[in-house]
Amino acid sequence: MDYNNKMRLEFINKSENESFARVAVAAFISQTDPTIEELIEIKTAISEAVTNSIIHAYEKNEEGIIVIQCSINGQTIEIIIEDYGIGISDIEKAREPLYTSKPEQERSGMGFTVMETFMDEVEVQSVPGEGTKVILTKTLNKD
Ligand code: ATP
Ligand code: MG
Repeated sequence: MDYNNKMRLEFINKSENESFARVAVAAFISQTDPTIEELIEIKTAISEAVTNSIIHAYEKNEEGIIVIQCSINGQTIEIIIEDYGIGISDIEKAREPLYTSKPEQERSGMGFTVMETFMDEVEVQSVPGEGTKVILTKTLNKD
């Protein structure tokens, strides 16, 4: 039978928590015995999603919650990064390479593109005023 496991992590929108989330998820998924490359790819994708929730979802100085759920189903890893912030009104546009709503902050608009490059699937669900959910999926050792 396939190996299954699941975890949930909740933290506030402090930039210090980006590295915490990345390392915590990496520690959890290391039980699936990923290659170093797969681990780096997943960590990079998580970083982008968590950074987006920290930077874009909540107004400056407003405390907001970010929840990460990670599940392992056999060789497939699913990571859900969720916030309850401003949401995204045009998801298609947000996902375009080089699109950023914060060019003045020297953002490059490549976060979603990086997630798409490193993961098998990137699903974005968002409701303006309610929040955003990014679902990242990757199957390991596909050969
Ligand atoms: P970069 O990731 O290269 O630093 P960026 O964050 O602007 O720049 P993306 O990560 O691709 O680029 O995101 C594109 C746009 O989607 C953002 O500029 C922002 O407007 C919107 N966005 C992304 N994630 C969220 C979120 N969790 N809540 C609200 N808006 C978001
Ligand atoms: Mg980004």
